[in-house]
Amino acid sequence: MNSPGTEFPMLELERHVLPLAPNIKLSANLRALLEDRERMLDSLLDNLEGMVYCCLWDENWTMIFISQGCRALTGYEPGDMLYNNRISYEQVTFKADREWVRARFIESANAGEVFEAEYRIMHADGGVRWVLERGMPLYNEAGEVEALEGFIQDITLRKRSEEAAREAEERYRSIFENAIEGIYQTTPSGRYLNFNPALARIYGYESTQDLVEGISDIQKQLYVDPGKRQEFVSLMQAQGRVQHFEAQVYRKNGDVIWITENAREVRDADGNLLFYEGTVEDITERKSYERQIEYQATHDSLTGLPNRTLLSDRLQQCMSFADRYHSKVAVAFVDLDQFKMINDSMGHHIGDELLVAMSARLADCVRESDTVVRLGGDEFVLLITGLNRVEDVAQSMQRVLASIAQPFVINSWDYTVSCSIGVSIYPDDGNNYNTLLKSADSAMYKAKHAGRNNFQFYTRELNAALLERLDIEYRLRRALENEEFRLYYQPQIDIASGRICGVEALIRWQPEGEEMVSPGSFIPVAEETGMIEEIGYWVLFTACRQARELREKFGYPVPVAVNVSPRQFRQPGLVNMVETVLRDSGLEAKCLELEITESMLVHDTEKFIETLHALKALGVSLAIDDFGTGYSSMAYLKHFPIDRLKIDKAFVDDLEAEPANLAILRAIVALGQSLGLKVIAEGVETQYQYDYLRSIGCDEFQGYFFSRPVTAEVLEGMVGSRG
Ligand code: C2E
Ligand code: MG
Ligand code: MG
Repeated sequence: MNSPGTEFPMLELERHVLPLAPNIKLSANLRALLEDRERMLDSLLDNLEGMVYCCLWDENWTMIFISQGCRALTGYEPGDMLYNNRISYEQVTFKADREWVRARFIESANAGEVFEAEYRIMHADGGVRWVLERGMPLYNEAGEVEALEGFIQDITLRKRSEEAAREAEERYRSIFENAIEGIYQTTPSGRYLNFNPALARIYGYESTQDLVEGISDIQKQLYVDPGKRQEFVSLMQAQGRVQHFEAQVYRKNGDVIWITENAREVRDADGNLLFYEGTVEDITERKSYERQIEYQATHDSLTGLPNRTLLSDRLQQCMSFADRYHSKVAVAFVDLDQFKMINDSMGHHIGDELLVAMSARLADCVRESDTVVRLGGDEFVLLITGLNRVEDVAQSMQRVLASIAQPFVINSWDYTVSCSIGVSIYPDDGNNYNTLLKSADSAMYKAKHAGRNNFQFYTRELNAALLERLDIEYRLRRALENEEFRLYYQPQIDIASGRICGVEALIRWQPEGEEMVSPGSFIPVAEETGMIEEIGYWVLFTACRQARELREKFGYPVPVAVNVSPRQFRQPGLVNMVETVLRDSGLEAKCLELEITESMLVHDTEKFIETLHALKALGVSLAIDDFGTGYSSMAYLKHFPIDRLKIDKAFVDDLEAEPANLAILRAIVALGQSLGLKVIAEGVETQYQYDYLRSIGCDEFQGYFFSRPVTAEVLEGMVGSRG
């Protein structure tokens, strides 16, 4: 036993150990053990985790009693510290803590209280340990503090974990404070419990305090749409969390921003809802970028009108609306009549200005709730909703016609355009986008046919020809790309010599897997749509190239006649185009003849005659095709630089049955020759016709009687054998 002796009033053992009850049976050995109280106490003290001590109230805290726990606690043997044998407890106490620990003890002793302190000691192994000391002062007879007794425990582990927890807390607080995202906790009723500076910043408040004072009710003050908070709470109730919850909110200054929230419920151990916890991110920039991208994808950049992409969405909405309210929707297809001409002749700059102005006029003609879409080019679609009677559309369409027809001034020039409109009605004419649009489109063509500057409704009676025409147009657009056109040649025979004196190039359309289409059914469509310009170029080039090949092969020229349609003839670059084609194909100009129809002469303008002369100047010949069917007075002919008349087949056809034609033919031949023109008859099928033409001195003929139009290869054979 290490206790320094019993003269010190250190422990009042008698108070703690009860006398043994005589009626409890115990072995004599155990009884002896129990009665050796000092031994029992020693054993208890030595087995305690910690050090029981008694020390003097001096500058060394001189130990006068130390339990065995000293070893584990300090690393020193109890004997080393007892009476400061090798080291005092003051020395063991961590230097920085000595002073305040002593001060604390003095304070407690003066107050007569139990003292308690957590401080550090230096372990014999050189390490620092945290200890908890609890002690009591012991007094001498004079009532002065003479010694201390108490218990010291190692609390290093607890301290470390507390430290770790504090550090972790600090780390999280730092994340919380410095996060870029707003982080918050709110009551389910919408009051902030806790949030970080970023949240205040996102919502435009100077500080967190500013936000606390600024927002007391999230639902009413934050969300632009107060229903959003309810949606948020409902989602929370249903799923316990919300993800990517996007909403618009007010900033302090009233600006509206877009945010996205991720949040979850926090519950206590019993499952009671404590609060919501979540993050907020400002996505205004992304949203506006997305909106901009979407806007660009769905609007026409020139006019700012919705484009084709939006049309089907809008139409769908209109149809749903009409279903709900038992009303109708009108789909009006608007096509500007003279746009292409102005655009081509005045330049794209003027064309663009015109389109912008016309877009604005269209938008002015309809209600706010209606839609104006630019499909592309000079085509627009109006969606007119809430119609009870189809007739009501008629008024809107009248307005559109009148408005478009107002003169339009650019650079003090007046332009006037008109438009053709086709209208289909939902649900009468169709119940989907494609049908309605197609119907409106075909009705628009009806309007074009009816002389433009008018509108037409689509009806189921819309004739099959119109539909077929639409179909041709659609397929024609692809025919060029797919190289579905062929060029056939029909020989022209010099009646006097019986030799081939030329050929007429005639286009054929051979759609894949289908029957050959004759030009009569697609040339007019190509004319109206403008595709004739491209097609015409192809014909001209192909004809010239093959004529040059023939010439090379046989050593003498076989002139080729190419049909030029009215629209082609008006095309601004025609003369240049012909010149280029001649040069590129290597054909001599005198071997090319251009056929124009008689009806074109009627619209003679200076420009027209100018073009004829320019073509003549290139050295090409000009022929009047289908002569006799137009309205031109024969006297007119002398004004034009023409080389040949092609008598229309109609006069030849009926020769046998219609004796009057004999006279007409004779007159035409005579007239033509008197003007110095060659005369050729078309559509000669019989010996009779041939004989008669020969008898009246007609120069040439063309017709099945000699040959149908044939391919270039077949023609080659003919020229070779019968040229
Ligand atoms: P067109 O210029 O008057 O051509 C003569 C038409 O009469 C051709 O019809 C020809 O095949 C047909 N034909 C010739 N001999 C006879 C005959 O003995 N009996 C009968 N029944 N018909 C005969 P096709 O090839 O169908 O051409 C029709 C029209 O299409 C042409 O009339 C021309 O106006 C136009 N066309 C043809 N090719 C072109 C072209 O490349 N460009 C343009 N713009 N128009 C063309
Ligand atoms: Mg012809
Ligand atoms: Mg003809």
